[in-house]
Amino acid sequence: MKKYNFNAGPSILPREVIEATSAACLDFEGSGLSLMETSHRAKNFQPIVDEAVALFKELLSIPEGYSVVFLGGGASLEFCMVPYNFLEKKAAYLNTGVWASKAQKEAKLFGEVVEVASSADKNFTYIPKNFTIPTDADYLHITSNNTIYGTELLKDIDSPIPVIADMSSDIFSRPIDVSKYGMIYGGAQKNLSMAGVTFCIIKEDLLGKVSRPIPTMLDYRTHVKKGSMFNTPPTVPIYCALQNLKWIKKQGGVEAMEKLAIQRSAILYEEIDRNKLFVGTAEADSRSRMNITFVLKPEYQELQDEFMAFATSKGMVGVKGHRDVGGFRASCYNAMTIEGCEALVACMKEFEKSH
Ligand SMILES: *Cc1c(COP(=O)(O)O)cnc(C)c1O
Repeated sequence: MKKYNFNAGPSILPREVIEATSAACLDFEGSGLSLMETSHRAKNFQPIVDEAVALFKELLSIPEGYSVVFLGGGASLEFCMVPYNFLEKKAAYLNTGVWASKAQKEAKLFGEVVEVASSADKNFTYIPKNFTIPTDADYLHITSNNTIYGTELLKDIDSPIPVIADMSSDIFSRPIDVSKYGMIYGGAQKNLSMAGVTFCIIKEDLLGKVSRPIPTMLDYRTHVKKGSMFNTPPTVPIYCALQNLKWIKKQGGVEAMEKLAIQRSAILYEEIDRNKLFVGTAEADSRSRMNITFVLKPEYQELQDEFMAFATSKGMVGVKGHRDVGGFRASCYNAMTIEGCEALVACMKEFEKSH
């Protein structure tokens, strides 16, 4: 049976990306060696990093003055590296969920943290609006897509101070104006690559402004200066990312990805709003295009396990909601097809009919 992968992360990747990466793991570009046993300093590996960086810059129209680096440690290590490198006295954080709170918690180790707004009052079902950004803070940290709650900030915000964004789960799903950001980072395993690599897009002139000493590996300047090659980078995940970036370009770039994301999410939200059994959890104007969260209406709560089993029997994978929200979550990253969303909708309709 055909499987539809709605996993939140690690998550769906285009089949050809998986095939190209697998082929390189068996024989890297005709070298007779596996990519896994190839040195990151090998002549044939450097072009992989260079091309991935070039495609990042091309696909996101990254202006001059920004560096793209690939690191280890996941988005979670960036929660600590961001304040280490940028927080001198005070930083502002927008609290839109678990990941945003975790980022904020790390910042408190380095200085004063101002929470500009929080949607904790309603279990993070919306993105706060009309908050005031303190002009004397070193940066404003945001989480553009809240993977767990299914909310998304779909606009680049205007800010008097540098914006630093965790875009782990919506990078490359829409065009962004990188010039409005001081830094953008994320773990790759949601919408870019397999697990194991973290991407950072860093505005170079923001570096070197804090007075504290920074351990070499945690200092962004180390990685910018050495082009992600200070130590051994995650070579296979970087290769996989490059294949995916090529795929995105072939599909028509981030504009095409956005169009698809709009279509996919519209198909699912339309059914959630129509179906008598289900209700969406995110407020309408904060709904994510990447993670579509929904629950059974109170009067149908007892059908939770039955729907999960039914969806699974129809080939749906990973639609169980995060424990903090419950219900269901359909993660629809770039590689998810319209057909996949229609199959889930068909499943919801059929289940409705039998109840
Ligand atoms: C998954 C996720 C993280 C955590 O990423 P790791 O790479 O596992 O550290 C952080 N932020 C967001 C928005 C996420 O979706």
